[in-house]
Amino acid sequence: MLQVLSPRSQMILSGLNIVVCGAATGGCAAALVLARAGARVTLVERVAKPKEIGAGIAIAENGLAVLESLGLHDALGVARTVTEVRIVDAFGRTLLAPRGKQPRAVMLRRSTLQGMLLDAVAKEPGIECRFGVEVTRATPLGEVTLRDGAGETTERADLVVGADGVHSRVRDGGAFGARVRRTGLRYVRMLLSGDVATGTEAWTAAGLFGAFPVDGGTYAFASCGTPECRAALDARDLEAFRSAWAGAYPASSRILASLTSFDELLQNEVIRVDCERWSDGRLVLLGDAAHAMAPNLGQGANSALVDAAVLQFELRRCSTLPDGLEAYERRRQPAVRRVAEASSRLGKLAEVTHPVGRTLRDRVLLPIVGLFTTTKATSLVLQEPTETLLALGRG
Ligand SMILES: Cc1cc2nc3c(=O)[nH]c(=O)nc-3n(C[C@H](O)[C@H](O)[C@H](O)COP(=O)(O)OP(=O)(O)OC[C@H]3O[C@@H](n4cnc5c(N)ncnc54)[C@H](O)[C@@H]3O)c2cc1C
Repeated sequence: MLQVLSPRSQMILSGLNIVVCGAATGGCAAALVLARAGARVTLVERVAKPKEIGAGIAIAENGLAVLESLGLHDALGVARTVTEVRIVDAFGRTLLAPRGKQPRAVMLRRSTLQGMLLDAVAKEPGIECRFGVEVTRATPLGEVTLRDGAGETTERADLVVGADGVHSRVRDGGAFGARVRRTGLRYVRMLLSGDVATGTEAWTAAGLFGAFPVDGGTYAFASCGTPECRAALDARDLEAFRSAWAGAYPASSRILASLTSFDELLQNEVIRVDCERWSDGRLVLLGDAAHAMAPNLGQGANSALVDAAVLQFELRRCSTLPDGLEAYERRRQPAVRRVAEASSRLGKLAEVTHPVGRTLRDRVLLPIVGLFTTTKATSLVLQEPTETLLALGRG
């Protein structure tokens, strides 16, 4: 039987021993909100120095609200505002522009986001960081096995938070009804020096290509659905990658010109994770461990931030751990599922490369989709009202 927690809202997390596995966006945010609510948090991360990883990232109004509620406004000052959300064709003509007022969004280097979260974690007295330590096993009883250079040890926690990403070890340890699907879709991301951004995402004959300003440069990303592009990546051939894009998207030549080595391209396959349950006993999942999704709505990390804030809120609001975990799942799972489905549909549209399919998409489908990009669609993507999120993180 799980521990019954005090019904007095501010008190229930006090003294609770929580192990958060994974110190990226979701894990750092969870560690911060839980420690600030009184829990004793151990943050475990297998990478010894997790600060410098990744290319760029878009943080939308929901993620921004959680970060701001954590007191990170100043650190976010370096991020670059996304002034318009517009899909264009290879020649810059608008294909899809949402109507009405757009929610706030910024772009920044992942290392900047990760750095600001880790700095906040380092200053938080309730968090003990154990970096360079791998979680090898976790059980619904709250046992976590950790491996470092000295060997393996097993510890017991009141709650184990699996924020350990798409290949989550925590998820392996519980009955989550997880479905992990490899989509075969590949994306390439890169950071470029100088401002070569177009500020738009283009849907072209070779798939999608976006380039946005970030702190100290440009963040570009591209899908890799054509045989030429895939062959270039398989051969690790930068010139072939450039020429695969040059024909389909002339603006890419200027953007890709400053790359000096193939190693500057980060490749990711899109993997979908859907879980029937998000908690089992003393295990709970958040972020990609629970719901990795297609990147096309830019909501993976944002959803992880929202998960962290809602988890903390529901644990405090409920009087027992099982009730809090159930309330968290009830609130987050349907909202995230809707976003993941929408993101996947958007990705499929973006990646149409057949000329007939593209003509139908651009001339028939997108004008209709444009009619539905309304306030309702925005709130589906953002999942929770901004005011609620600002309040949740603050506790
Ligand atoms: C091409 C692409 C573009 C994207 N763009 C955006 C975007 O613009 N905006 C957005 O919101 N999202 C975006 N996403 C999604 C986003 O990257 C993820 O949803 C987000 O990083 C998930 O965060 P997380 O903290 O849940 O997991 P992760 O970022 O995967 O972090 C997991 C952490 O756990 C650690 N870990 C893993 N296993 C163990 C273990 N066994 N023991 C200890 N530590 C472990 C890892 O080292 C890592 O630090 C994009 C994804 C892709 C593929």
